[in-house]
Amino acid sequence: MAIKVAKFGGSSLADAAQFRKVKDILLADPSRRYAVPSAPGKRFKDDTKVTDLLYQCYRQVEKGDDMQEIFSLIEERYRSIASDLSLDIDIDGLLDQTCADIRRVATPDFAASRGEYLNGVLLSAYLGWDFIDPRDYVKFDRQGVFAEEWTNELLGQELKKHEYAVIPGFYGSVPNGEVRTFSRGGSDITGAVVARAAGADLYENWTDVSGFLMADPRIVDHPKEIRCLTYAELRELSYMGATVLHEESIFPVHKAGIPTNIRNTNDPAHHGTMILDKPQEATGIITGIAGHKNFSLLSIEKAMLNSEKGFCRKVLSVLEDFDISIEHMPTGIDTVSVVVADSEIKNRQSEIIHRIRELCQPDHIDISTGIALIATVGIGMVRSPGTAARLFGGLHKAGVNVRMIDQGSSELNIIVGVDTQDFEKAVKAIYEAFNS
Ligand code: ASP
Repeated sequence: MAIKVAKFGGSSLADAAQFRKVKDILLADPSRRYAVPSAPGKRFKDDTKVTDLLYQCYRQVEKGDDMQEIFSLIEERYRSIASDLSLDIDIDGLLDQTCADIRRVATPDFAASRGEYLNGVLLSAYLGWDFIDPRDYVKFDRQGVFAEEWTNELLGQELKKHEYAVIPGFYGSVPNGEVRTFSRGGSDITGAVVARAAGADLYENWTDVSGFLMADPRIVDHPKEIRCLTYAELRELSYMGATVLHEESIFPVHKAGIPTNIRNTNDPAHHGTMILDKPQEATGIITGIAGHKNFSLLSIEKAMLNSEKGFCRKVLSVLEDFDISIEHMPTGIDTVSVVVADSEIKNRQSEIIHRIRELCQPDHIDISTGIALIATVGIGMVRSPGTAARLFGGLHKAGVNVRMIDQGSSELNIIVGVDTQDFEKAVKAIYEAFNS
């Protein structure tokens, strides 16, 4: 029988009604053998996620203040789930123990991890499935870097012993057993890691949307759904701001050739978005559009630059000395531009310019802020002449001035830089150019 790993996000497990939906989903398909829960998320717009409350508890402990008032909000969340579902567990004992543990261990990672831990205990009781504590199987090295192969080995062995099990997301431990979490949203990573260790046929990521859309619906009215995309396309889109999945969750499943299916807990009949290694069917020319504001463009000009050896290296070495990571580096014959995030150069612009002047002696150098980057991504571009013409035609029609262009050699995407105030207009224009 096939093996599926189903990860459920915070909103999918925010209260007892959501737990019921999750149980229905899991029991509807016996190949869904391993469930990875997040901590309870928001039940309504202004609600607070349990993870955020746990970080607040930690901050109270750190200051030497009492955390009880905040912890009681957390207790209420789990108590109401346990009582609405009539779970046969000692919820008072569990919560008292957790409260004492958070005070005793007093690290942010441990406090935050208890959200997933408690939800995992509740879900396993509700389903009657085994509980696997990732503290013993999801490992980080001494520096806190995720130990992928070690985890795969340990977890793979353990999963074999359980036909059906719940493995909480988001945390594991360093070699001495101290709890460590992934970055925020990291249960997606745990889900992918479990899928790889289980040798799963499919990684299902259940959330509160029916998958990816071609563009941000806050900018484009009712954008088309993306039914299928490749991991390479997803990587480009999530790097540039599409936020359905944690970007690091791609790696374990991609490596193991396991497809990911984004599904909606509140609309389980919807097929969602399927993410694969290779496209299964002919795709459209473009798959999606994503972008970010708040970039700066460092432009450097020098006559005869094309024949000067080591010029780019010198520019990059200055940026490296300032510990700045770069996004793009389009070059011309006598020009080099570097795109960096505003946050990387904040308050250091004149120092950077000064260093580059000293080392590279350019004829002209300046930094313009207020740049937005937009990636138009699609594996179908390779075989479609005229893609760029369509894209730039659309921008031209909308009166958007393009400040920078970069097309990766993989022909998987075209990135344009525009003024921040043109960002929304440009995204709409590109979307229209390919969908009308
Ligand atoms: N609960 C954690 C967070 O809020 C991890 C997750 O939900 O994936 O970031």
